[in-house]
Amino acid sequence: MLKGTKLYSILFNKCPRCQEGDFFVSKSAYKLKQFDKMHEECSHCQLRYNREPGFFTGAMYVSYAYYVAFIISSFVLFYAILDIDLDYYLVFLLPSLVLLTPFFFRLARRTWINFFEDYRPEFAKDNTKAIVTTTSESPVL
Ligand SMILES: [Zn+2]
Repeated sequence: MLKGTKLYSILFNKCPRCQEGDFFVSKSAYKLKQFDKMHEECSHCQLRYNREPGFFTGAMYVSYAYYVAFIISSFVLFYAILDIDLDYYLVFLLPSLVLLTPFFFRLARRTWINFFEDYRPEFAKDNTKAIVTTTSESPVL
């Protein structure tokens, strides 16, 4: 249902261009030895994920935004809606932030690359066709 949207790529660990190949090596954010291991390129369309050195530095700002959104929404839930004491909220919040770190790390990187790469259905179909299409579209120099 979501296929073809950026949300699909971000949520399901898929390449932003073809949405077929995996982005991170591990499907789970909580295999802690390899939660940050990314494929060099997409196994389906050969999109190079790390476009330039330091490309994913910008993902830190996205990660920050996710943390802030989580803190504000959990504060509203606990303090304003459920009327739970602020001390209990902090007891909940601090371990939650630590536990969510691998999840937000991966989510932020996938969000960041989706800012720069759009879904292109011609790359989703077949590996060889996509490569032929790309070369025929490129201008002859
Ligand atoms: Zn791909």
